[in-house]
Amino acid sequence: MSRILEGDMLEGETKWENQLRPHRFEDFPGQDDVKDKLRIFIKAAKNRKEPLDHTLLCGPPGLGKTTLARILAEDLGVECRVTSAPALDKKGDLAAVLTSLKPFSVLFIDEIHRLNHHVEEYLYSAMEDYSIDIVTGEGLGARPMVFKLAPFTLVGATTRAGLLSQPFRERFGIVERLQFYDRAALEKIVVRSAQILQVEIDEDGASEIARRSRGTPRVANRLLKRVRDYAQVKGNGKIEKDIAMFALNALGVDQHGLDLMDRRILQLIQQKYAGGPVGIETLAAALSEEAETLEEVYEPYLIQEGFLQKTQRGRVLTDFAKKQFLEV
Ligand code: ADP
Repeated sequence: MSRILEGDMLEGETKWENQLRPHRFEDFPGQDDVKDKLRIFIKAAKNRKEPLDHTLLCGPPGLGKTTLARILAEDLGVECRVTSAPALDKKGDLAAVLTSLKPFSVLFIDEIHRLNHHVEEYLYSAMEDYSIDIVTGEGLGARPMVFKLAPFTLVGATTRAGLLSQPFRERFGIVERLQFYDRAALEKIVVRSAQILQVEIDEDGASEIARRSRGTPRVANRLLKRVRDYAQVKGNGKIEKDIAMFALNALGVDQHGLDLMDRRILQLIQQKYAGGPVGIETLAAALSEEAETLEEVYEPYLIQEGFLQKTQRGRVLTDFAKKQFLEV
């Protein structure tokens, strides 16, 4: 799998992601629809002196869910506590976080579809009336008591909204789905990141990186960093169209923004399964990859760009993929 486009967080990546993370809506290009709505909800909540409704942000990795949660908190003028479902393994873990929240705080839970059932159900009363049951004492003296929490906003992020149970989903007053970014928005992101990284870039260079970033800011930022290396070693330090093209080709990112793994997926379906349909588990086994990773990281973009179709009987290559991609 190409390290550049890998969906999972890489070691040491968090630091530079935070460095490039915008802190205000004004510095967050794209997702206009979602931003407009959130700004109104924030303003209304502030006017009413109430916490913002619990918010669920859905969409593929790297589109800005964590960033938006932080911006929400910043705009509300409150603390943002960041955690993820795997870190909340037991009810006690969640209780510890909830009872330490300051009033009106944002609690951000990443990968919220991975919460186990007990922890998820424990959240229900916290979300509904800001209270949880806590057991005090031990052994025979143990007794449950209702603990009142400070009002807070839960912001959940998920790449798999469909995996959330209905009762859980219904407890979010605001549900927003982030979309892949268009080229113009990605260009702005690349130019802004280049400024922070103090690397010179021209419009064509930014446009080339944006075009090949799978509609995803995280990918755009990663590609920018790698293209910068090529510009500094093989070029004059400035990112222009030619060096960007050279670097991106060397990195295995093609004209459509597809990386090696994307192409392996499409080629496998074409060559071994006559264009499909083929089940996701079969594909995953053939590619030595987790089915979940294929579904969360690779498929959404291949589907959105019209390379792949999801049917009842499995994945099928589109005519577009056969013509545009496989003949090249
Ligand atoms: P997610 O939580 O959806 O996986 P993140 O919020 O962690 O994505 O974003 C991944 C990276 O992309 C971060 O470095 C973030 O700063 C950057 N990013 C995401 N969306 C935007 C945006 N609209 N503008 C600028 N940078 C963005």
